[in-house]
Formats: sequence, structure tokens, C-alpha cells
Amino acid sequence: MKLIADLHTHTLASAHAYSTVTENSVQAEKAGLKMMALTDHAPYMEDSPHIWHHHNQQAIPRMLNNVYILRGIEADIIDNNGGLDIDEDLEKKLDWIVASYHWGDGTRSEITNSYIKLLENPHVCCLGHTDNPHFDYDMKEVCKACHNYQKAMELNVARIRDARRIETIGFYKRMLTVCAEEEAFVVVNTDSHFWNTVGDFEPAYKIISEVGFPEKLLLNADAENVKQLVIRKNGVDVFA
Ligand SMILES: [Zn+2]
Ligand SMILES: [Zn+2]
Repeated sequence: MKLIADLHTHTLASAHAYSTVTENSVQAEKAGLKMMALTDHAPYMEDSPHIWHHHNQQAIPRMLNNVYILRGIEADIIDNNGGLDIDEDLEKKLDWIVASYHWGDGTRSEITNSYIKLLENPHVCCLGHTDNPHFDYDMKEVCKACHNYQKAMELNVARIRDARRIETIGFYKRMLTVCAEEEAFVVVNTDSHFWNTVGDFEPAYKIISEVGFPEKLLLNADAENVKQLVIRKNGVDVFA
């Protein structure tokens, strides 16, 4: 099994990341990727670029270094009701939206409800790094919704790599197990902030094989899965 898309990457447009789109795409090609999503931060994060940055992604060629570029964003979840920090106009315009909690708080049932509402939103493609224990949620209910709406739960490689987050590996093993039970897609993303880690999924492969997670539920093991999700989201075939 090989993963062929990295759908959560940052460029220096997010102030705490350090590489360009081109540098990331060069590495993506070296890593054997067919697709890469650009997911710089949306306006509520302090390091986010001007909103025009997100709107103007059509300026970037669709194919860069033989890698298909998905125009995306990492949107901030701004309340416990499935609210994001971008408007519907931008939601519709983009190919790929990762929705992540970075700040705020809520009870387990509030966070669960918020995640389910986000999955219901036709423009949200995946829930980013749900491993933060500060945002505890009912995994079974959320994975069920993820299956129903054919979206994806993210296995975030940067979080696994971070030695300070020992408990994260246990979290993701549990998430893979529940996703397998509920037949929910998992997308493995690097959340790269520098070009050298784009497409390097190594720490995730170990966890996936230990859990025995089925390949057919790994969204980014098959370009067709990613395409179908993007086409469902946009209502048009951007790959045609
Ligand atoms: Zn994030
Ligand atoms: Zn990120």
C-alpha cells in the first residue's frame, strides 16, 4: 500500500511555515505523490495570510512538477455549532477544506455536535488533527457521521512525529479502529510546515499496519477516492 496524496500542507504564506508551493511540489513529486492540497490557515489564525491569498489560488497551475494541486484551506472551527472562519463563497470556490479546532473549548457533547455539523457541511472534506484531548468527542458518533457523509477523519503525521505527544499514537490507533468499525475514510496527512516532510507518511504506515486498517478506507491510497470526494463537494469535475 502506498499513499499518493498529501492533503494538509502549509507554505510560507502561513507565517509559521517556511517553504514555497514550488518547493513543496518538488518534494511531493520525489515522494511519488500524484496530488497535494495547499491548506494554509484561514483568517482566525494569527499567522494566516490575507484572504485574497485563498481566493487567488487559480493563479497556481493545476499540475506542478507532475503533481495535481488542490486549492484548499485549513479553516478554523470558531464555535461549537460547526461554524468556520470563512464565508460560503470561499467554501464553494475551494477544492479541499480541512476543518480544525485550534482554540476555544466545549463539553464532549458540544464538540461531538460541532464535528457532526461540520461533516454535514457539503464543503468540509475532512476533520483535521482531532487528537487534542482539550477537544474530546464521541468518536463512534463522529465516525458514523463521517461514513454517512463520505468524508474523512485525518491521521495527522506531524502530531505523531512530535515527541511531546506520546499519547497521540494511542489516540490514532483508537481512531483507526473505530473508523474501521464504522467504515469511515481516514486520510493520512503530513501537515508539513517545511518541504522536507511533504509526502513522508512513514510513522503512519507503522500504526496502520499494527491496527490492520483496511486499505479501501484509506482515502489517499487511491486518487479516485480523493477525486470523488472533491467532485461531490464542488458539484463539478475539476479533474476533467
Ligand atoms: Zn491545524
Ligand atoms: Zn495545519
